[in-house]
Amino acid sequence: MSSLYIHIPFCNSKCLYCDFYSVIYDAAVAADYVDVLCEQIERLDKQYSTIYIGGGTPTALGGVLLGKLLNSLKRFAGCATEFSLEANPESLSREILRLFLGSGVNRLSLGVQSFNDNKLNNLGRIHSAQAAQEAVHLARSAGFENIGIDLIFGVGNERLDGWRQELKKAAELPIRHISCYGLTYEKDTPLFNAVKKGALVPLEDEAAAEMYRYAIGYLEKEGFKQYEVSNFAQEGYACRHNQNYWENNAYLGLGASAVSYLDGVRKENVSDIRAYIARHKREEDLGVFQEKLPAIERAKETAALKIRTEKGIDFSWFKQKTGFDFPKLQKSALAGLTERGLISYNRGSSQRPGVHLTQKGFLFADIVSSELL
Ligand code: SF4
Repeated sequence: MSSLYIHIPFCNSKCLYCDFYSVIYDAAVAADYVDVLCEQIERLDKQYSTIYIGGGTPTALGGVLLGKLLNSLKRFAGCATEFSLEANPESLSREILRLFLGSGVNRLSLGVQSFNDNKLNNLGRIHSAQAAQEAVHLARSAGFENIGIDLIFGVGNERLDGWRQELKKAAELPIRHISCYGLTYEKDTPLFNAVKKGALVPLEDEAAAEMYRYAIGYLEKEGFKQYEVSNFAQEGYACRHNQNYWENNAYLGLGASAVSYLDGVRKENVSDIRAYIARHKREEDLGVFQEKLPAIERAKETAALKIRTEKGIDFSWFKQKTGFDFPKLQKSALAGLTERGLISYNRGSSQRPGVHLTQKGFLFADIVSSELL
């Protein structure tokens, strides 16, 4: 079964580092947008193994519109093993959490980003560290058993000591999943422009690498096992929706800027809410970009995604999935990557033939992925 992703491109304010497609919440546009999504959901005629409502900030929609959207998804909720919803601390309430639970949402992903108010301010977040912790407790007491949070490291002149304290706070919370992302300065974001003007100096790579290494060791000790470059979970709580993505399985993306990957065809929807609504109403194609990659390119893409997971690439899985023999397909990349100590062959009689990222490889996962493409 494939996955279903629904993009809600509204936020209560724009964070300084963000380059996702999202706009400030507008009630009239949001109402039209949700109507369009509900009509599209109404037309779906299959079930999905996972559902993920992301953004943007889905909770920026408020209870009424979210209720409408969730109601339209009810007939899918029973079949999906995982139904995730992203929320920001400032837009959670007991009522809205009850609505989620009553609609079959069984995983809550909270955009916490930091437990340090200065850092939150530097990132342009509108909630406090205290509000983030309270949001986690509120969700837990409302009945959410599977809660995940996102954290960012490497912001400005941040030091390891502060990051250690943040991870400690995270590990003490009743959560199952932690995503840790190193800050990247995406083109045309306010933080990128500040760096360009010299008003902001990014953290040195080695300091950011030290924070990442510390997170891996500390979280493992606290029972959060790394299962992908940026993702850590307690046993049995890895995000299935994202695992589907790293296995290059099929998914349908609804909403402005959402991407679908169905029958080997990747399609990206128009990144403009009003254009998305208008195209839907005129029954026009919602896509602005579409490609069907040849089988060999799809296989390489599968390699580039799957190598990011802790398990890496099992050669027989790869053969079955893509039809290609991994060592032959990636012969030249493999030689270079193993020589530089970025990937390693599985060893030991209990392990199936395959490759995985080394400790150093996790630090340079983007380079590894791009060389496998
Ligand atoms: S809340 Fe998330 S999607 Fe919205 S601006 Fe901030 S980082 Fe971007």
